[in-house]
Amino acid sequence: MAIISSRSQSSPSLLQAPATPPEQAEEQGQLNIRPHTLKEYIGQKELKELLEIAIAAARTRQTALDHLLLYGPPGLGKTSLALIIAQEMGVNCKITTAPALERPRDVAGLLVSLQKGDVLFIDEIHRLPQIAEEMLYPAMEDFRLDITIGKGQSARIRSVPLPPFTLIGATTRIGALSSPLRDRFGFIQHLHFYEVAELTQIVLRSGQILGLTIDVPGAEAIASRARGTPRIANRLLKRVRDYAQVKGTGEINGEIARTALDLFKVDPQGLDWIDRQLLTVMIEKFQGGPVGLETLSAATGEDTQTIETVYEPYLLQIGYLQRTPRGRVATALAWQHLGYPIQGSLLPAGLTAVPTDTPHAPKPDR
Ligand code: ADP
Repeated sequence: MAIISSRSQSSPSLLQAPATPPEQAEEQGQLNIRPHTLKEYIGQKELKELLEIAIAAARTRQTALDHLLLYGPPGLGKTSLALIIAQEMGVNCKITTAPALERPRDVAGLLVSLQKGDVLFIDEIHRLPQIAEEMLYPAMEDFRLDITIGKGQSARIRSVPLPPFTLIGATTRIGALSSPLRDRFGFIQHLHFYEVAELTQIVLRSGQILGLTIDVPGAEAIASRARGTPRIANRLLKRVRDYAQVKGTGEINGEIARTALDLFKVDPQGLDWIDRQLLTVMIEKFQGGPVGLETLSAATGEDTQTIETVYEPYLLQIGYLQRTPRGRVATALAWQHLGYPIQGSLLPAGLTAVPTDTPHAPKPDR
């Protein structure tokens, strides 16, 4: 399977999960960690079952798999899944990111380079420029590329047939996709955060590939602080490996993992200082909320999109945050976790949690 990639990269922090372009990852030896088959792909059971059937059916019919839209927070395995699908279908996978498809010729060039059955993976598909999106409509629906030649009244449209292909779109913001684009996908699938048991398996598997000695409690300690996200679990594993090699014998057990993660300021719930800062601001400045997203952004200095796509999903998942029509609310669990005393914690969280003058838990450390 050939992988062709052209996409941008954002700056990594220990708990964020920015993507590494596959060809760069390969140089760094990370592609070994990526699962290569559906069997190796841990978790997301229902999605895997659905794909197994769809892939088997498409292979029997010798047709391309229907277009697939994957959505969910970064680092949950969307790119890996696209590569696996191409691998299982025995076709090439071309990888790009939506902002890279700025000009019509970028899209046209990509589409005409596809061979029968190929997978075209477009990351951050909600950021597709309008012109690129419109070119994709006939390509997805009728495997046809419409090119406009000339301008104004003399403009003509020339249609070029394309081989059947599979578009796999990935997004962290399904709501930002236009409905004509969304409707052209045969499957729309949500990737969920991983259970600790699943992440433990992922950490053990990565540890084995990296040649590490790691026991189950060590893997569990890493998994439980990885925000339900495989990319973060793998990153934490590498940092714990460094610690174990420098401060210990190189072996990773529960105690080594916990000590290392404490040192890296990854708290037992996997929150980093930005999560803690968001919650602290809500509690201290807004009595737990409700706080509007814009206000929260202004008060913390984090941009609204990062709050919405990177931080909020996990805080919502673990029940530390609620979205209400009037804004975000820090729940009683968040108050408790950060060491703030809660009053009337059984009533709707946040709305009743009144801060007192008692000394608080440590502030988020930068
Ligand atoms: P996304 O495209 O959703 O941002 P990726 O597919 O790039 O996420 O996954 C990030 C990393 O996490 C991969 O390099 C891979 O090693 C690991 N990973 C993701 N999902 C799984 C999984 N289900 N099983 C094992 N490892 C996984």
